Amino acid sequence: MLRRSYLLLVFIMTMFFFPPSLFGGMNSMTKAIVSQGELKLFFAKPLEKQKIKHFTLPNPHREIYDFIDMRLGHSRVPLGLGNNIRIAQNNATTVRVVIESRRPFEPTAYQSLFSKSTYHISLPKNSAYIQKGSSPAQQAYAKPQAQKTTARRHTEVIVIDAGHGGHDGGAIAGGKREKELVLAISRKVEKQLKKRGYPVYLTRGSDRFLKLDERTRIADRKDAKVFISIHANSIDKSKQDKMEGIETFFLQNTRDERSKRIAARENEAVLKGTDNVSKHVIIDSVLSGPKIVESNKLAIDIHRRMMTNARTLYRDVKDGGVRHAPFYVLVGASRPSVLIEVGYISHPKERKRLFTTEYQNILAKGIAEGIENYLFNRRKEIDF
Ligand SMILES: [Zn+2]
Repeated sequence: MLRRSYLLLVFIMTMFFFPPSLFGGMNSMTKAIVSQGELKLFFAKPLEKQKIKHFTLPNPHREIYDFIDMRLGHSRVPLGLGNNIRIAQNNATTVRVVIESRRPFEPTAYQSLFSKSTYHISLPKNSAYIQKGSSPAQQAYAKPQAQKTTARRHTEVIVIDAGHGGHDGGAIAGGKREKELVLAISRKVEKQLKKRGYPVYLTRGSDRFLKLDERTRIADRKDAKVFISIHANSIDKSKQDKMEGIETFFLQNTRDERSKRIAARENEAVLKGTDNVSKHVIIDSVLSGPKIVESNKLAIDIHRRMMTNARTLYRDVKDGGVRHAPFYVLVGASRPSVLIEVGYISHPKERKRLFTTEYQNILAKGIAEGIENYLFNRRKEIDF
């Protein structure tokens, strides 16, 4: 009895000195809409005012709101609303909202009286900020219509690496091979990006084997801004019905057993035919590199877009999340690099949809949109 009341007292004291918000930490933004001249943001938990940082930047005028200890919820937060509002995971713990306007304005930002887990930011008067980025907003803001219809020319080179090839078939299940699937998707990503005006190079455009350095060399030669390696996953028969879904990796060491297994499988294939690779040296030199943060951002953008797009066709696509693991193919590239496992070809249901053109197209579109989003935000950051 005495012990019980003592514990209760400790509990009360703890809650007094460390309110749950200090333990709970992360909140997440679950939805963002524009209505009645305001940007309305929705959160999983009540917002704490001290975790919102607001500042402005000139040329063009931008109102910036950083939400600290915040993550983007997965599917219902659009990354852009119209031409002038952008929402992005700025780093692992901050969501950044940027509202751009032609002229400076003073937004009113407030929490709803009824719900502390919504946040309202007023938008410039007479503006046509609207939900889907359709024509009125674009007409009202900045770019002439002509630029919208013809794809803009971008200078950022993107290298797409289709995994495996030639004698290395990659994962094989149900008579289907990873090397063919990832080449088909890589080609579709290439098409999507070219349509958007980006210079794109494939490490392989046909069924042939490439050594590790051949995969990364082209990225160096072309001074690529982004390197994407595309793969498909598989697992042994005993678990084939259990493991499915999309996973996006960036290069970093991991303690996670599942990520380790995936990296080991992909590394085994990529190291075949490679001589004198001083594994530890290259891994160590890159694991602490400055590209990790950027690669993490790139992975987040690509993953979100892929998931959102995939679920427009199949609502039950599993979200394997953004993870990190030591992949050799990402090591040689001194640029933001991501390895995508588009799904498990060992899973009967997932294999079936992975080999349809429709699903490949929607994944490719997601990857292209994610890359575009990342580059867009990166340009803005450089502008800062
Ligand atoms: Zn692979």
